[in-house]
Amino acid sequence: MCSRLQSFIAATIPTRCSGRGRGRARAPKPHVLVLFSLSSSYSSRNRGEMGDYGPSKGWEVVVDDRQSLDRKIDAIRNAGPQKLQVIADFDATLTRYWVNGCRGQSSHGLLQQGNPEYDAKRQQLYEYYHPLEFSPTIPIDEKTKLMEEWWEKTHALLVEGGLTYDDIKKSVASANIAFREGVVELFEFLEERGIPILIFSAGLADIIEEVLRQKLHRSFRNIRVVSNRMEFDNDGGLISFKGRTIHSLNKNEHALDMAAPLHEQLGDVNGTVDDSASVKMRTNVLLLGDHIGDLGMSDGLSYETRVSVGFLNDNIEGSINSYRKAFDVVYLNDAPMSGVLELASQLLPAKAT
Ligand SMILES: [Mg+2]
Repeated sequence: MCSRLQSFIAATIPTRCSGRGRGRARAPKPHVLVLFSLSSSYSSRNRGEMGDYGPSKGWEVVVDDRQSLDRKIDAIRNAGPQKLQVIADFDATLTRYWVNGCRGQSSHGLLQQGNPEYDAKRQQLYEYYHPLEFSPTIPIDEKTKLMEEWWEKTHALLVEGGLTYDDIKKSVASANIAFREGVVELFEFLEERGIPILIFSAGLADIIEEVLRQKLHRSFRNIRVVSNRMEFDNDGGLISFKGRTIHSLNKNEHALDMAAPLHEQLGDVNGTVDDSASVKMRTNVLLLGDHIGDLGMSDGLSYETRVSVGFLNDNIEGSINSYRKAFDVVYLNDAPMSGVLELASQLLPAKAT
């Protein structure tokens, strides 16, 4: 029988930014929340308690409809691993929201192209277009055009300003960016079971792949980054972008068709990275995001069952009600990925030994 778990949670909040000074410092006032979450047995059939990926391990999770989640997990598990794929947003989903006491940098935001004039020009574009992106009064068609305009102008500045691959490596090396604890374990778990992971981003694939290289120190043959991809000349200078522009309003599985082919696989060249067609045969989805709009990442797929996980990193009091209705599972306060690993283990039958 279900019972309600009432938890008072006080987040530990660093008050001083010990990073490189980019990004705003974390608000010093601690959040105090009251969470209502079901603490019933997750299932009587070889599943642990909800606490397995919730409060008992020291982080906070909210599940609005336990029975619905149970049904979805059963459906995915029964369909088997060959039907499952993982679709993940990158920034503030795979990466942490807070890093060294500062707001972590995004894959786009970390880029310093070694040319202050052009860095400043890109910042000016950000200041003009970013408010338009979130304007409630601009019709979606118009907003989509504005986003295309913003992304294309930004990409043009990167080419014009003489970005090199070396700039990307240096930018990543000095960036205030880090993966959530448990990301490697999740990737390994999924790789061992042949589950593809599509990382969808309106940022830059080349930067995301460099972050994966530098921060994880290994590659995964089941990962594919679907994002804007650059083309470099023999001297490592950026000359163009491949494929159609992927921006914040078209970041969905249609982007897989729009994206250019990989010019470099992260994994083993003999690996089993699924192509677009075979990924579309995988009609069960574990989706990871940090914005409600990330749910659109599976729009291009006629999925049968989707379990959605949302990371609510900030403004928890203001957003918890909409997140708990939108996502099947919500992790709070920049939680580690360990809970998702537990969830993934429920979606997949145990490996035969
Ligand atoms: Mg994000």
